[in-house]
Amino acid sequence: MLLTGWGRYPTVTSRVTAPGNVDALTKELRAHPRSMRLIPRGAGRSYGDSALAEQVISSRFLDNFIALDAENLSISCGAGVSLAEILRLCVPQGLFPPVLPGTKHVSIGGAIAADIHGKNHHVDGTFCDHIESVSLVLASGELVHCSRTENSGLFHATCGGMGLTGIIVEARLKLTKVPGISINTESMAAANLEESLALLKEHNEKKYVVAWVDCLARGAALGRGIIHCGEHSGTGELRHRESSSIGVPFTTPGFLLNRATMATFNTLYFHRHSRAAGARQQHYDKFFFPLDSIRNWNRLYGSKGFMQYQFVLPDEAAENGLTEILEAVSRAGKGSFLAVLKRFGAANQNLLSFPRAGLTLTLDFKYETSLLPLLDELDAMVLAHGGRIYLAKDARMSEAVFKQSYPNWEAFKAIKDRVDPDGLFASMQSNRLGLSCADVGSSTT
Ligand SMILES: Cc1cc2nc3c(=O)[nH]c(=O)nc-3n(C[C@H](O)[C@H](O)[C@H](O)COP(=O)(O)OP(=O)(O)OC[C@H]3O[C@@H](n4cnc5c(N)ncnc54)[C@H](O)[C@@H]3O)c2cc1C
Repeated sequence: MLLTGWGRYPTVTSRVTAPGNVDALTKELRAHPRSMRLIPRGAGRSYGDSALAEQVISSRFLDNFIALDAENLSISCGAGVSLAEILRLCVPQGLFPPVLPGTKHVSIGGAIAADIHGKNHHVDGTFCDHIESVSLVLASGELVHCSRTENSGLFHATCGGMGLTGIIVEARLKLTKVPGISINTESMAAANLEESLALLKEHNEKKYVVAWVDCLARGAALGRGIIHCGEHSGTGELRHRESSSIGVPFTTPGFLLNRATMATFNTLYFHRHSRAAGARQQHYDKFFFPLDSIRNWNRLYGSKGFMQYQFVLPDEAAENGLTEILEAVSRAGKGSFLAVLKRFGAANQNLLSFPRAGLTLTLDFKYETSLLPLLDELDAMVLAHGGRIYLAKDARMSEAVFKQSYPNWEAFKAIKDRVDPDGLFASMQSNRLGLSCADVGSSTT
């Protein structure tokens, strides 16, 4: 079947299997021809090619196990369980996953493999910082358990390891007790990048902080944005409720997205939210997952798909680096709707984990071949400022850029080679980044 990531670029023809339980998975791996590489896949919400290969093992059916231990504030579940399912079970108990990304439709396996972050990284770290233990099936078919104290090298390679060490089948996650499900939010307008950065810094002690930046604004308005802060409120029923969603029924023509339409949208958004700035209360679903209210919104970028480009720059380089990058994007006129700016806290010990102390910016670009030179230019700026690019969003970074910016890649590869000596687990991304065996190729359309 034809498979893509959330960005709908690239497309690959894949053989997909979906074992219904761990025994079936173990048998499948033992019988699998060593020469045919494969990669695990969760909900397919990574944007690029990290969950793409000629053979894919879906964790969709590894979802038949979920056990909440409300007393010890933890939950154990199969890797195919989604964050939406965890919320459905936990919220009525006044419990919450400590880290949530911008969509609840990700699997636990995918959340661990990308070591995802939320709007509270500066306070609570990454998703894997709250993972107590992981069980995974290695290339040999052996089931192993790992944690910070048991097989710790494998644990730190698997958390953030993009599915390259084995197939996660189960995990135990710590939960947070919350007083209520509503979020007290506060929004503020910033007229330019300097003000946006100052507001992010000023509100750094708030639990959730995110800025939406107009990446097409120029001159004195470069980097203008709306900063949203949030804290759990003590009011509101502990009742799970998913917001209703509307769908994009078909792929819209890509030409509808051009500099003029995007700049108009961004300007309208900025002025509307500047006027509505202030404090209010929001349901958590709306606060954390605004994009989930539009199903298949990825179709809006046209039939060729789009690329999400997320990088982090260390604090000391952030203002200069962000100015340079936003100027280049604005000049090229290829910017996206709203860009997302967040502050990260310190890095953790996971070998390929993306977050590090500094500022992270996320930009969406409609895919077109003329985009690629701009992204190469941005890569050079990110590297020059000591930053790196998020693997869960990437579909085109070069091996050289990756190896220069992820200093622990060799330690990761040493562990991968030990647990997967034949290099069975390989994605299109790992082939491109030099993390698979040397002889592995990929097929793209
Ligand atoms: C609208 C939207 C908003 C997002 N917001 C954020 C955000 O705020 N913060 C953030 O960090 N990310 C964010 N993401 C990215 C997303 O959280 C990650 O890409 C996550 O990995 C997706 O999980 P998945 O289950 O869809 O995994 P997939 O996309 O299917 O796979 C992603 C990676 O995980 C590996 N993997 C999947 N399952 C397993 C398994 N069982 N065992 C081993 N490896 C496995 C795959 O091999 C692949 O390398 C967002 C994505 C979308 C679409």
